Amino acid sequence: MRIDLHTHSRASDGTDTPAELVRAAARAGLDVVAITDHDTADGWAEAAAAAVEVGITLVPGMEISTGLRGRSVHLLAYLPDPACSPLADELTRVLAGRESRVPDMLARLRGLGIEITADDVRAAAHGAAATGRPHIADALVGLGVVADRTEAFDRYLGAGRVAFVNRYAAPLETTIRAVTEAGGVSVIAHPWGRGGLGRPDEATLAHLHDIGLAGIEVDHQDHDAATRERLRAIARDIGLVATGSSDYHGSGKVDHDLGCNTTDPGEYERLMGLAADASERSTWTSPVVTSGPATGTA
Ligand code: AMP
Ligand code: ZN
Ligand code: FE
Ligand code: FE
Repeated sequence: MRIDLHTHSRASDGTDTPAELVRAAARAGLDVVAITDHDTADGWAEAAAAAVEVGITLVPGMEISTGLRGRSVHLLAYLPDPACSPLADELTRVLAGRESRVPDMLARLRGLGIEITADDVRAAAHGAAATGRPHIADALVGLGVVADRTEAFDRYLGAGRVAFVNRYAAPLETTIRAVTEAGGVSVIAHPWGRGGLGRPDEATLAHLHDIGLAGIEVDHQDHDAATRERLRAIARDIGLVATGSSDYHGSGKVDHDLGCNTTDPGEYERLMGLAADASERSTWTSPVVTSGPATGTA
């Protein structure tokens, strides 16, 4: 069983359509893939239809932009009802924040003499529900300003760079509770991925587990071997589920191929068990895991 629980499509800043993402997952030999676009459920229906076609299991999820003590924390949410009002309200605020910073970032780029317009970004976003810096990066590539997304982030868009503008993030603890109320489970994505200062330590993770956090993403490209072992031990001590995933963005992110990290089947079963418990306690309607007809050959 090969399980990848963190991937992006064109519903946010991946480069594959949801159907292409699921077909690519099947080609990569995955049995289970979760679609986890930033702050939106927009790709779920198309991905589920493709999963039936190609015969793999699709877990609907999302990666929510949250903040803890001024620091960005990405929260993976699996199987929540996106219509549940506390969660839906937070997602609306986050998506509005994604939109409202774009003009500011473009103004900064124009201040540097780069002629980039909102239409350029809109075209690069291909109708994505969640607009992100990678779309501005793609517009810059299209204009011949940079060679790829990496160069765009390094020169202009990364935190602290000239065109960087911060945006709204949902409070982490509120969001964990909102996901539970919506009948879903939450897992912190790449918890120790960037920078040492202020990242959630063991005591913080234990507290978050107490208020409903189900797991942490241990095996992720942003974690080196020592970090993975430390996080795995913490997950074991606290009782958190340990996941592994690619954070695939299509051709938008190098070194994040589908299945480059995977989740242990036992940990996946635990996570789905917690999701079933949350769904049972919730008054909202959780989406379903789609299982295509078994091929037995993947
Ligand atoms: P935003 O959602 O607008 O805050 O942009 C963050 C997104 O940009 C994340 O999903 C990252 O995966 C992506 N990202 C960050 N740095 C890079 C990079 N150097 N190359 C490609 N994508 C990146
Ligand atoms: Zn992304
Ligand atoms: Fe992330
Ligand atoms: Fe991601």
